[in-house]
Amino acid sequence: MADEFDAIVVGAGMAGCSAAIRLAQGGASVLLLERGAEPGAKNLSGGVLWGRDLDRILPNWAREMPVERHVVRKRFGFLTGEDSVAFDYEGSGWRREPYVAHSVLRSRTDAWLAQQAESAGATVVPAVPVDSLLWEGTRVKGVVQGGENMTAPVTIVADGTNSRLTLGTPIRPEARLSGEATELGMKEVYRLEPTVIEERFNLEPGEGHAEEWVTGIFPPGVMAGGFLYTNRDTLSLGLIVKVGSLFGKGVYAHDLVERFKQHPAIQRKLRGATLVEYGAKLIGSGWASRPAAFHGDGWMVAGDAAGFVFSNGIVIQGMNYAVRSGLEAAETALAAKAAGNASAARLAEYDRRLESTGILSDFRDFAGMDRVKWNSRIYTAYPKFATELFHAMMADTGAPKRHLRQLLRTAQRAAGLSTRALVKDAIAVARDL
Ligand SMILES: Cc1cc2nc3c(=O)[nH]c(=O)nc-3n(C[C@H](O)[C@H](O)[C@H](O)COP(=O)(O)OP(=O)(O)OC[C@H]3O[C@@H](n4cnc5c(N)ncnc54)[C@H](O)[C@@H]3O)c2cc1C
Repeated sequence: MADEFDAIVVGAGMAGCSAAIRLAQGGASVLLLERGAEPGAKNLSGGVLWGRDLDRILPNWAREMPVERHVVRKRFGFLTGEDSVAFDYEGSGWRREPYVAHSVLRSRTDAWLAQQAESAGATVVPAVPVDSLLWEGTRVKGVVQGGENMTAPVTIVADGTNSRLTLGTPIRPEARLSGEATELGMKEVYRLEPTVIEERFNLEPGEGHAEEWVTGIFPPGVMAGGFLYTNRDTLSLGLIVKVGSLFGKGVYAHDLVERFKQHPAIQRKLRGATLVEYGAKLIGSGWASRPAAFHGDGWMVAGDAAGFVFSNGIVIQGMNYAVRSGLEAAETALAAKAAGNASAARLAEYDRRLESTGILSDFRDFAGMDRVKWNSRIYTAYPKFATELFHAMMADTGAPKRHLRQLLRTAQRAAGLSTRALVKDAIAVARDL
């Protein structure tokens, strides 16, 4: 029997919607299946959408898509018990179009993207949880949903981090994700008047602020980074915790969020705000969470399902890679349609595209990032070192001032940071970040 569609895309997130839009624009008949009641209903990001990848399919997206604010300031810092040290980047170029980054709420953006897919000619079907891929030997012929087979020469798997369609299959032979290569993202959204947001964060109307924190405030061994982003009339706040670092600690992940919110550097920003939404989601740990292959006979994997989340503690970028990889999968599927051939050899073009667009090199070149990001000293010694040093450099105690060298030694001692560890970590940062 002939296939009903040229391509089936599973998952109406950033990767799946982008792939479906490009496929439809390229004249392919495409079926986009989403398990959520509506596209975006099940999606969660911090989230700052970096870059301009959507320009390729939707040149006016930055004006038409329901984005929240364009980011003009990025803060990175360390929290200790009650103290904090932070560095701000505020680029004048970030205030001019084309903006470099936008805060977004996925329930709005993904619904809009799915509409664009539909307008371009894709068949978008929400509330349809795909059961499995339809395998014939090593070939994927489509998907199985509710006991029914749906077939297409190409299936693009874009079902997110905990990719049930690929786990336990030749794409990801492991039965479940490992705690060492997985992070848990928890997020809360707080309503606050736009004028209060602008005054509190020193922003002009429409401008946004994004901050990331290394959290030296949790029980030893628990490794987590915090974030706070401004939206139009809400704040997005949350934590990303290394799942393996929670094992055996007797701590509940949601208690960590409570502790984060109580820190003075965060608490003050939430004054008068009302909780309106919360959620949690797994995140893959970059290169370590990649599948066995990105393509095969009749299939390609894109976005989080392929492990394309770049997160080094200073910035988290997954949505941009989801869009980019979705588009490259779509281009490959269009070429396969033109050639009337969707074999593994033909779809190898996808890997070449992932390579030539820098996606694979971004992840391969920074494969050691986790060694730096999940070094336990980052969450214990360094926050203490930074806050001690800055306090000592600035506070006037009436005693004679000391040289920076002496201050560094004192901060090192207070943080329990040996010179050997400092040098070792500096080398790792230079090598892996
Ligand atoms: C707390 C947190 C903060 C983050 N912050 C940022 C940030 O600031 N910036 C950034 O760029 N990235 C951020 N990320 C990462 C970003 O969210 C992801 O990289 C991005 O969502 C990946 O998009 P995707 O389309 O690949 O997957 P997803 O967005 O997960 O979409 C997958 C889709 O597939 C659907 N689906 C799953 N299984 C099935 C099935 N069987 N059948 C049908 N449909 C299915 C899901 O419902 C979902 O709609 C963050 C993630 C988290 C959790």
